[in-house]
Amino acid sequence: MKRSERAAVAFGSNLGSRREHIRRALNAIRNLPDTRLLQRSELHDTEPVGGPPQGRFLNGVVTLETSLSAIELLDALLAIERAEGRQRTGKDHPRTIDLDLILFGNQVVDRDRLQVPHPRAHQREFVLQPLAEVAAAWKHPVLGKTVGDLYKQWKRNHRK
Ligand code: AMP
Repeated sequence: MKRSERAAVAFGSNLGSRREHIRRALNAIRNLPDTRLLQRSELHDTEPVGGPPQGRFLNGVVTLETSLSAIELLDALLAIERAEGRQRTGKDHPRTIDLDLILFGNQVVDRDRLQVPHPRAHQREFVLQPLAEVAAAWKHPVLGKTVGDLYKQWKRNHRK
């Protein structure tokens, strides 16, 4: 039996039927080989961060148990984005669906194509808030703090 890891994947959509894109992307994740969906956060309606003026996002996080490797999971997520009709028009532009691999067990990956933990996750409320709903006790392997503490720290820094 292959070794499995727990993974956290953040998703967001701000184009077209946001709920429908998310529903289909999560279905596709559920159907990945050697992968089981564990939990889904609430959906959060959020202000876009960066990029040109654009519509609000719906964001959330799922946790998975998978025996895919981190890079295999990334490739599967990119294929799902393509299947949902995502056009890569530029950094921080509107998107039908964005899927980011945030955490993968306690692994640290630093390659051109993949950085895990996602290097900006701990700076983004739209990731931290749903991540804290489903994985508050998960320790960030680089920062050495739990997701719950990282979200508290974010709120302190942003006076919320
Ligand atoms: P974006 O357009 O912001 O979704 O960036 C997607 C690109 O970032 C992909 O082509 C990936 O190769 C790269 N990337 C690096 N690390 C990650 C990660 N942790 N999750 C998703 N994409 C990543």
